[in-house]
Amino acid sequence: MADVILPRLYGCYNCRKHVALHDDIVKKDFVAGHRRRAFLFSHVMNVVAGPKMDRRLLTGVHMVADVHCSDCGEVLGWRYEKVYQEAHKYKENKTVLEKFKIVKLDW
Ligand SMILES: [Zn+2]
Repeated sequence: MADVILPRLYGCYNCRKHVALHDDIVKKDFVAGHRRRAFLFSHVMNVVAGPKMDRRLLTGVHMVADVHCSDCGEVLGWRYEKVYQEAHKYKENKTVLEKFKIVKLDW
C-alpha cells in the first residue's frame, strides 16, 4: 500500500479550527516581539482580519491587521497589509501566527 501523505495542519490553540498548513510556512524563526516565537505563512485559512493600522514592530512601522480565528474570535497573529521598507517587502500579504496560539493537529 502506498503511503498517504497527510497535510500537516495547524489549528487554533483555543478551538482547534484549522488555520494553516505547515508547508505554507515562509519563515520559521520569526520573532513576534518580547521574544515570542512566531511563524510567517504565505497562506492561512479560517481567519478574519481586523482593521488595518500602522503599527511599530521590531523591524519598523508597517501597516498590519490583526487576524482572528473565524470560530472563536481569538487573536492569533497579524497580517502585513503594507510594508514600507524594501528589505521587508516579502512579508506583504503574508500572515504571522504566534507559535503559542497554534497547535499541531495529529502530527
Ligand atoms: Zn479558535
